Amino acid sequence: MVVDEILCRGCGYNLKGLPAHGLCPECGVAIRVSTDGDSLRASQPDWLAHLARWNGICAWMILLMAACVLIEAAVATQHVLILAAVALYQLWAVASWQSVRPEPSQQVLSRSQLFTRLATSLGQVLGIVGAIAVATGHSWPMPAGVAFMLTWICFICATAGQLRALAGLMQRAPWTGLSWRLSSCTNEFVICNSAAMLATVALYYYACLWMIAPVAAIYWAVRASLLILRTADMLRVEATLGEENWHYCHQVAAPASDADSRTTASNDSSS
Ligand SMILES: [Zn+2]
Repeated sequence: MVVDEILCRGCGYNLKGLPAHGLCPECGVAIRVSTDGDSLRASQPDWLAHLARWNGICAWMILLMAACVLIEAAVATQHVLILAAVALYQLWAVASWQSVRPEPSQQVLSRSQLFTRLATSLGQVLGIVGAIAVATGHSWPMPAGVAFMLTWICFICATAGQLRALAGLMQRAPWTGLSWRLSSCTNEFVICNSAAMLATVALYYYACLWMIAPVAAIYWAVRASLLILRTADMLRVEATLGEENWHYCHQVAAPASDADSRTTASNDSSS
């Protein structure tokens, strides 16, 4: 019997008072996977696979945006490249939003998940404002430079939140070394990007130094995305192992739950 208030890993249903070896009455997932601590491997495999997929896409979007910004900085301001970077930013924002999807049993968003989602949404709006300013040549409602600077801040906040959320997840897996690396990368990422951003503003009028800021920011974007890609691989491993675990627990629990109906059936056929 489940004595504590434990929520089902598959659907969030409160399992208190139910037999520990049965199945969840709401979604049919073995109750055992929810009572075995909070290891990531016991989490819903579909959710883990979702995180692996969207974190991977997110990392690739960061790399493509970095490439866009680098080319743009090297060949001077090109409208087409700016608009391409904004379009990539929109795709990245979708991936970033999905990359911090809460676990089915989770009832409220964690601080880093909420932070990432707010920053992502705000960045999307600001990116569009900047793109309109570039495309129309007007500085309404704000100059493109200001809009893109604010978009960059949103990107830093969202990615920092994402790295934090991933570090928290990796603590629940046998990959604690990776969790530590994600945590330290979060701080370095925020500090270096903020410094690069301030440098962009300060060095704006010194054309020869202009490249320093984008290169510094890009270095950190690449570092963060490689770490996110590695984490996505680990999440994929957890999803595969988790699926086997869920399947096994279900096979063990299902006969016990079906026993009554099967006994009735065999009694009917023998009589
Ligand atoms: Zn359930």
